[in-house]
Amino acid sequence: MKRILTAIAAVTAITTTAMAADDDMKPVMTELKDGVYQFHMAHYSSLVVISDEGVLVVDPNSEFRAEAMRAEIAKLTDQPVVKVLYSHPHFDHSRGGQIFKAEGAEFVTHAGCIELLGRDLENRVVQLDVTYDGEIHRIELGEKVVEMRYFGSNDGQCNSAIYMPEDKVLMAVDWHLQGFVNLPGRLNTHDYVGSLNTLRRVTAELDFDTVISGHMHQSSPEQLAEDLAFNEALFKAVSEGLAAGKSIEELKETVKLPEFSHWFMYEQNLPAHVERMAYSIWHGH
Ligand SMILES: [Zn+2]
Repeated sequence: MKRILTAIAAVTAITTTAMAADDDMKPVMTELKDGVYQFHMAHYSSLVVISDEGVLVVDPNSEFRAEAMRAEIAKLTDQPVVKVLYSHPHFDHSRGGQIFKAEGAEFVTHAGCIELLGRDLENRVVQLDVTYDGEIHRIELGEKVVEMRYFGSNDGQCNSAIYMPEDKVLMAVDWHLQGFVNLPGRLNTHDYVGSLNTLRRVTAELDFDTVISGHMHQSSPEQLAEDLAFNEALFKAVSEGLAAGKSIEELKETVKLPEFSHWFMYEQNLPAHVERMAYSIWHGH
């Protein structure tokens, strides 16, 4: 619960300009492409893909969201949900898929997540039917193609980017949160150099014109590019400072990224990001 509340507190702030916090509890299904939808509710986004061979969902994000999402899907199609993908194992994203399991959905994610998903002390995570190793898992469902792409450690050790090469859609969960200098507590397990590498690789290797962030109300290729620029600027400033012999404490006081000073909580949270980036450079994760 603490994690959920923290996430809600974190993301509430960036959504207030677009929508009051209470309104964010309303389910919103947005069509992005033909048969491709973003379901957003309670500061979490899911991807919904409707094909003539069933429905694919990425991330249930808890029981009440999954039930609301199922009701919205029923307004669009009579097809059953046949596949649920987990972008990554964090329980605030992976719990709550029982309603889809009950109608026969197959649960899929990267093999690196098996152990962590099996550790849910509240037993609210539907366990996996299919896992993949390596960098690409391609799913063909009717006329739709959905790929899970593994780029290594980022915000977690087994996070998959979700990519629809024919529809040019990218879903980026927890390693893409443009506009918000995230809360220090959220950085504990954030592999900053890994996240930077993931942002670099999706930008260089994938062809997309539509972006879903796991928490933002809406995103875009331009917002992802700004996120990459923030990560690049932070990496450059911190690595150059370390190379010049400065201590992490000095860097926390001196590193400024004025081109991102409009990002929410820039003043309060930037020093924690400098510190996490420094340790990420030192430790390699
Ligand atoms: Zn998250």
